[in-house]
Amino acid sequence: MNKRIVIVGGGVGGTMLANQLVGKLYPEILRGAVSITLLSNCPDHFYKPAFMYVAFNQFFEEELKRPERSLLRPEIAFQVEEVTAFDFVGQHLKTRSGKRFDYDFLVIATGCVPAPERIEGLKEAGDHFYQYQPARQLAQRLSTIEKGRIFITVSFPHTPNVPHQCGIAPVETTLMLDDFLRRRGVREQVEIIYTYPTVAQLMRNCLFLQRPTGDVLPAVFAQKNIHHQRGFTLSRVDADAKIAYSAEGDAQPFDILMATPPIRAVDAVLESGVSQAANNEGWLPTNHETLQVYGLEHVYVIGDTVDLPVSKAGGACHNQAPVIANNIAAEIRLGAPNTVYDGRVQAVAQMGLNAGMPLWYDYTHDVLPTPPTRLGGLLRNGFNRGLYWAVARGLL
Ligand SMILES: Cc1cc2nc3c(=O)[nH]c(=O)nc-3n(C[C@H](O)[C@H](O)[C@H](O)COP(=O)(O)OP(=O)(O)OC[C@H]3O[C@@H](n4cnc5c(N)ncnc54)[C@H](O)[C@@H]3O)c2cc1C
Repeated sequence: MNKRIVIVGGGVGGTMLANQLVGKLYPEILRGAVSITLLSNCPDHFYKPAFMYVAFNQFFEEELKRPERSLLRPEIAFQVEEVTAFDFVGQHLKTRSGKRFDYDFLVIATGCVPAPERIEGLKEAGDHFYQYQPARQLAQRLSTIEKGRIFITVSFPHTPNVPHQCGIAPVETTLMLDDFLRRRGVREQVEIIYTYPTVAQLMRNCLFLQRPTGDVLPAVFAQKNIHHQRGFTLSRVDADAKIAYSAEGDAQPFDILMATPPIRAVDAVLESGVSQAANNEGWLPTNHETLQVYGLEHVYVIGDTVDLPVSKAGGACHNQAPVIANNIAAEIRLGAPNTVYDGRVQAVAQMGLNAGMPLWYDYTHDVLPTPPTRLGGLLRNGFNRGLYWAVARGLL
């Protein structure tokens, strides 16, 4: 009987995985024993990391998206459909247009969404770069500020040991901000304050979610006259007075509040009832090794929707996709999954507008920071402008 694999979400996780599954299961697909369907609520695919460059006027919307169909191998059936309900017992999905899709294997790849409205006043008075329009608004503010105070905050999920999206992004954008204001000739008149909450994943009173990187940051910031403050957990913003309040009892004025906002899973996942994550955040209970969803048969999860202690990053999806592809193929061919994810994540961090720092880590090893270089910057630029699309196509 034909095995129907349905993937929900046409971001980097779902796209990469769909393409890799075709390669892995090509003989079965050719003889009609396996079909792969990808459902996404958007016809386009966004290179999300480019949103942070949008904030510094380096990318426009037209440069950071491609039609999803153009990234997929022809054997994949792609449909623009928003999934509204999962029936894990009946093994089918419902979509907003009223269609029903039955599956034998399901992969949830719906990512996460910023939720600034979860902190009083943040949506009204804060800025962020985790979506296109907010990043454009931030670009407008950063391009016109002449003097004042830019206050940077980072909010973590309440679910224990789950990080915010792209762990290094607040550091990257702080360093890019410094370069950007220097290029504009206003850096001397603008104070930059980088802050971090008291509890950051498993760390306390630090400046980054892993110790080796957190330890080098004060020296990096000091070179650039960036101030830093530990123990600032954003709890409320007074939009009129432009003051950010912390759970620790501090109050800080700002001209621009550049925030990493709270995040959550998408509505369909929240409403599926499977997650027991704190604060209704919706992260799916994920088997650290096989990437199956605990308690569900033949259901996997990839990318930002997991409750794993690894970065919510494309560089995590890159290592999770082959594990899931292998495990689904093994379930079909051998009857059980046989491949283990080791928590590996890799990326090239953008350290200022020109420099880059390659990084990698896994469940048992932290990132070992190295000096940012222009060569690293070239590598990152190459990834931004071309390599990413090859990765999404499953070619790299
Ligand atoms: C500013 C910024 C900087 C970043 N920098 C980096 C970086 O330098 N390196 C790195 O590795 N990662 C980085 N990331 C993180 C990276 O972009 C994400 O981790 C990655 O996109 C997650 O992939 P995903 O497939 O899980 O989710 P997404 O890419 O978000 O894709 C989710 C997909 O699901 C679809 N969808 C949602 N709900 C439904 C539904 N109900 N029905 C159907 N479809 C649905 C969406 O339309 C989307 O296509 C950054 C992210 C941001 C925002």
